[in-house]
Amino acid sequence: MSRPPDPAVLIVGAGVAGLSCARALADAGRPAVVVERARGVGGRCATRRLGEQPVDFGVAFLHGRDPAFLAALAEVPATALPGWPLAARGAGRPCQPEAFTPGELRLAFAEGVSALPKHLARGLEVRLRARATALAPEEGALRVALDGAGEARAPTVVLATAPEQAAALLATVPGELPAVASARALLDLSRSRACLALLARYPAATPPPPWHVCFPEGSRVLQVAIHDSAKRPGAPALVLVLQGHTAWSRAHLEDPGWPAALLEEAGRWLGPWAARPEHQEAHRWLHARSDRSAELSGPVLLALPGGARLGLCGDRFAPGGGVEAAWRSGRALAARILEEERR
Ligand SMILES: Cc1cc2nc3c(=O)[nH]c(=O)nc-3n(C[C@H](O)[C@H](O)[C@H](O)COP(=O)(O)OP(=O)(O)OC[C@H]3O[C@@H](n4cnc5c(N)ncnc54)[C@H](O)[C@@H]3O)c2cc1C
Repeated sequence: MSRPPDPAVLIVGAGVAGLSCARALADAGRPAVVVERARGVGGRCATRRLGEQPVDFGVAFLHGRDPAFLAALAEVPATALPGWPLAARGAGRPCQPEAFTPGELRLAFAEGVSALPKHLARGLEVRLRARATALAPEEGALRVALDGAGEARAPTVVLATAPEQAAALLATVPGELPAVASARALLDLSRSRACLALLARYPAATPPPPWHVCFPEGSRVLQVAIHDSAKRPGAPALVLVLQGHTAWSRAHLEDPGWPAALLEEAGRWLGPWAARPEHQEAHRWLHARSDRSAELSGPVLLALPGGARLGLCGDRFAPGGGVEAAWRSGRALAARILEEERR
């Protein structure tokens, strides 16, 4: 059987950064192939279903101020909830305080935040359940080994994953290439922040709380409680998403008792009802947010001996962090790739 032709650009990771890069390349007439280890697109811009009800269990709402990013959000064919969260309670520190500063637009989608990556992915070639496991330079290209999906080759390979995941892939490159060593050094400067998150659905008679987000001031355990079902018009059930503080999450990653501890803390700060859901689902985000102290002003595109190129983008590769930075970094990297091709 003949192998499909090599794409000009292969992107590892179908989060917002990888998809915005692929989208910008496709819009310029240079379609790329995206490989993604998960069953769906979006990465940390993640929505799952409890029954029929969407629940955002990664980033809870989108925010930003770059006009191009806001225009991209406006194009998403979903039910926008402008300004969400409209009611915030508590003086605790949000994970991204700039979301609540003047001039920042906030937005949720009734269908879930994953409406954004799904829209970015339309018409793109995205190979799901294809985990990149190793990289090797060849004459004029990089070869990418894919777990359960053979391998792929491209003259330009983009790593659009969390820094630790990109660093692990670069560690597989054989030999001592200075460009790869520099990229690894750059990635090693950053440590992503962990977040333990719990989705909790409450019995039908539970009155909904009067807030959209609650940042308990003084808790070292619970960073934020998100009233997720307030984003779903006509939602049959009250659903909260509880997110743990970074330090607490890091310390309890391997502790099987963390969901119970998070619920107990929710009961303490929100009311006893909050500790007694009828259904709960736990998710450990090992790389939830980028470390703001190590953020870079733009993506990276390195030339390798033999002519191949290696690109790095993601939420750490644009100022501000978060989804907006991920989106901007992918677009900026696509522009760099197109510029190099024109030379
Ligand atoms: C709990 C939580 C709360 C957050 N709160 C906020 C907030 O308030 N505001 C905000 O702006 N942002 C927030 N964020 C962060 C925001 O979600 C991320 O910054 C953004 O989604 C990152 O996008 P990305 O494309 O850079 O990375 P990702 O979304 O991580 O995408 C990388 C993709 O690469 C895939 N991948 C990894 N390794 C491989 C491999 N070897 N082979 C193939 N595929 C691979 C992953 O499965 C993933 O789909 C939050 C995140 C979490 C988890």
